[in-house]
This record gives sequence, C-alpha cells and structure tokens, in this order.
Amino acid sequence: MADIGFIGLGHMGAPMARNLLKAGHRLRAYDALPAAAANLAEAGAAVASGIADAARASQIVITMLPSGKESRDVYLGAQGLIAMAAKGTLLIDCSTIDVATARDIHGAAAKAGLDFLDAPVSGGVAGAAAAALTFMVGGNENSFRQGEPIFKAMGKAAIHTGGPGNGQAAKICNNLILGISMIGVCEAFVLAERLGLPAATLFDVASRASGQCWSLTSYCPVPGPVPSSPANNAYRPGFSAAMMLKDLKLAGEAAAASGASTPLGAAATSLYERFVSGGKGGVDFSGIIEWLRKVA
Ligand code: NAD
Repeated sequence: MADIGFIGLGHMGAPMARNLLKAGHRLRAYDALPAAAANLAEAGAAVASGIADAARASQIVITMLPSGKESRDVYLGAQGLIAMAAKGTLLIDCSTIDVATARDIHGAAAKAGLDFLDAPVSGGVAGAAAAALTFMVGGNENSFRQGEPIFKAMGKAAIHTGGPGNGQAAKICNNLILGISMIGVCEAFVLAERLGLPAATLFDVASRASGQCWSLTSYCPVPGPVPSSPANNAYRPGFSAAMMLKDLKLAGEAAAASGASTPLGAAATSLYERFVSGGKGGVDFSGIIEWLRKVA
C-alpha cells in the first residue's frame, strides 16, 4: 500500500480520495478549503497543512483542481509540488486543463527529476463515487505502469494515450465530439417534435441506423428511451453545461494554437455559452434541448 498525498478535495477529488482509503492506501489530504480536508479526515485521511506537507513522505501525489490556473499554482509556484516534492515522487494531475499547461508542468518536472502524468478523467461525480472513472494518461511508460494500481483503485480503465499532454489532448478531443454530438441529437429530437414524429419512434430508428451515437443511446436528451439519462431526472447533472463549456473552450484554444479547423466546435461553444449565460450552468449538458426548443 502506498503513501499518497491528495490535493483538491471537491466534487471529484473527495470521492476519489475515499476510494484510495477504501483500497487501503495511506492519505495526506489538502484543500484550500479546510472543511474539505476535515471531511476526509473522518474517513481516515491525515490532514496536511499545505502543498509541501501533502507531498512530505508521499510516494505519489494526486491533484484534482478546477482548471489550468490552479494546476500551474500548485505545481509551478515557489512553494509548489515541483519545488517541494522529493526526487522519485510520482505526481499525477487528474484535473482537466489546457494541453499547454500540462506540457509546461511535464517540462518542469523532468528538469527537477520528478515523474509526472497528466491524467484527466471521464465518468463524472457518479463515476468517481463508484470507482468507475476512465483515466486518459499522458507521460512516459514507466510512470504510467507505476500509476496503474492507483488508477485501478479509483476507476475502471486507464489508457496510456502517449507522451506529455496527450491525456489532456485525448480528453478535450473526446469532449469536442460529445458536445457537438449532443447538440446534433437534441436538434433532431426538436425537429421530430415539429414534424409530428414521436420521440420514441425517432429513438427506435436512429439507435439502429446511422444516427446512432453515445449521446443518443446512453444519454438520450428526451425522457423515456434511456431510463438512466438525466432527462428523466429534471436534467440534474450528470455532467453540467458549465463543465461542457469549459472543455469546449479548452478544445477551441488547443485548435487555435495548433492550427486545427473546428467550426462545429466553435458553434457548439457559442450555443453552450448562451445556455450557460442564461443561468443554466448547473443544468446537465443534455438540458440544452429545452433551450433549443425555445429558440427554435
Ligand atoms: P471542484 O471545484 O468541486 O473541486 C476543486 C477543489 O480544488 C475545491 O475543493 C477547491 O477548494 C480546491 N482547490 C482550488 N485551488 C486550490 C489550491 N490552490 N490548493 C488546494 N486546493 C485547491 O471541482 P470538481 O468538480 O471536483 O472538478 C475537478 C476537476 O475535474 C476539474 O478540472 C474538472 O474539469 C474535472 N472534471 C470534473 C467532472 C465533474 O463532473 N465534476 C468530470 C470530469 C472531470
């Protein structure tokens, strides 16, 4: 069993950390909000007083932070992990952040003789609680092998997606597909309603025809066809529209920086921007169908 530092105990980090405790690992937990770490202490974690204290005597340090800005602070700050962790420590950032920041952290870690993996997740809060996350992992093969048992304690799959930053690249490319395909599926259901085609019939046809995709068959945006989808639960997340917008923006930034053409990604970003700025950031991202019905 490993000694693990865990930094960032929010909606995702707290259940992930709990699963590490359940698997028998020893944890030193830190969050900028003291109450978050105190909650985890009840589950058996030691509370760390700061970043350096979380890294102290830890073979592995995991971070689960809101965005690239916080990852930059926690890794690259004067009192950050790169400066404070002992040589040989494996550092794993599970936050979803921009590829450029992930690659900067890889560079700084390599210079300091530390191993680093960018390892964003899919599966959301429910997946984190059920230890059913999927990790997309960028970094060297040896570090990935070392991290595998830890990923296993928190998830159902860990995929080595290549070198530095490729975990983040895989995550934003996947979510670019997801954001665009969800809007496509929503548009088809709204059009079907206008044309007098029942939703159940469209589902029956499209789920067995060329319109088939995850947004339709696993996460259908209308109530009924897929009982577990948020449409059956008043569009409570699930995966919030604000999170989808964040990931689409990261994809847009990466596309601009790399010269890739993503016009449908830009359109999806603009639609989610309008949905979120109308106060719907906390609604599941499939709830955009209700907004599309109104703007139609
Ligand atoms: P959250 O805001 O609930 O948690 C982040 C935690 O980090 C908070 O407790 C905050 O206090 C802490 N924090 C912020 N700055 C800190 C610092 N400098 N030092 C120590 N602690 C600090 O966010 P979340 O929903 O848990 O998401 C975390 C990451 O996971 C994000 O990058 C998000 O995009 C990604 N993600 C979230 C979901 C989801 O459904 N929530 C799904 C997949 C991926």
